[in-house]
Amino acid sequence: MTPQTRAYAAQSAKSSLALFSFTRRDPLPNDVKIDILFCGVCHSDIHTARDEWGGTTFPCVPGHEIVGRVVAVGRNVKKFKEGDLAAVGCMVDACRECRSCHENLEQFCDDLVLTYNSPDEHTGAVTYGGYSTNIVVNEHFVLRVRNSVDLAATAPLLCAGITTYSPLRHWKVGKGHKVGVVGLGGLGHMAVKFASAFGAEVTLFTTSLGKAADAKRFGAHEVVISKDEDAMKAREKTLDFIVDTVSAKHDLDAMLGLLRRDGTLVLVGLAADPIALNPFSLVRWRHSLAGSLIGGIAETQEMLDFCADRGITCDIEKINIDYINEAYERMIRSDVKYRFVIDNASLK
Ligand code: NAP
Ligand code: ZN
Repeated sequence: MTPQTRAYAAQSAKSSLALFSFTRRDPLPNDVKIDILFCGVCHSDIHTARDEWGGTTFPCVPGHEIVGRVVAVGRNVKKFKEGDLAAVGCMVDACRECRSCHENLEQFCDDLVLTYNSPDEHTGAVTYGGYSTNIVVNEHFVLRVRNSVDLAATAPLLCAGITTYSPLRHWKVGKGHKVGVVGLGGLGHMAVKFASAFGAEVTLFTTSLGKAADAKRFGAHEVVISKDEDAMKAREKTLDFIVDTVSAKHDLDAMLGLLRRDGTLVLVGLAADPIALNPFSLVRWRHSLAGSLIGGIAETQEMLDFCADRGITCDIEKINIDYINEAYERMIRSDVKYRFVIDNASLK
């Protein structure tokens, strides 16, 4: 049988992504089959394709910001029918029985199956993500998308959106809070939009000189170049909450110094290197350093609906799949405005 799914895959940590074909499972009774229209490009795709975190199984087909159209459903599927719009984020399965699953926090399930690079019990290989023409997913992990939204600009909400929405909700960020966002890439630009939509006063901390006007358009009140020591000193002890989205090693002590007493810095960025920290950065002003991983399925749907209601989308640069390797290089240079989104028609 000829493989029905065309994709782009990395064959090793050092190779560029290139054409690859494989076959998806036929939909099981609770599965939805989706023809993928758009897939966002997350920095996690780069970390994984290049095996920067360790644990990548090759070939690796990245992509977990998926929007498409349902082309088949299993006999038990209730939420979707053929022709519906649908979306898939970072997860495609979990045990559905543990405490985290019961609390709608599937991302913390021990048996979590990620959209790519997780063992796939159906094929014996690993899961393959959204740099592909179609995907088959249990309906619980498929999100509803309204007809009214811009589909390409909605795709990155499935990871960049929920990963920044969730901590802002969890720590109840809103009116009266002064919030810092570190890094203006895919996650960072959504953190600015959400924090501002929730009523907080937002300061962006960036290493890039050319992003200030965009950050203000996204809702930032102020933009600080984080390499400018005087500017950083002037903001010491001014913030209640920080979302740090940086994808590479950077100075966390400097960021913690921006917090007021009892302030919290939430790390969502997943730099491959271990973090070095001066204990005084936490101890002296009772600061908290926390982390946050994407968000549960119910919260992801809530976020998509919130965005559809409020007209919030991602700022994107649409690309054909054959631009993906160049897109990776540009992201590593922080030259992304502010999410690359693959037009999956270019895979056909
Ligand atoms: P991205 O679009 O490439 O943006 C990262 C931004 O970080 C850059 O645009 C740049 O912003 C800043 N940056 C890059 N290198 C830096 C350095 N050496 N020093 C200081 N700042 C630097 O990446 P993304 O897709 O938003 O992902 C960001 C990170 O979050 C990645 O590590 C990714 O794996 C992780 N992630 C985590 C989760 C989760 O659940 N926690 C989910 C998705 C992604 P400026 O130009 O403004 O400085
Ligand atoms: Zn992601």
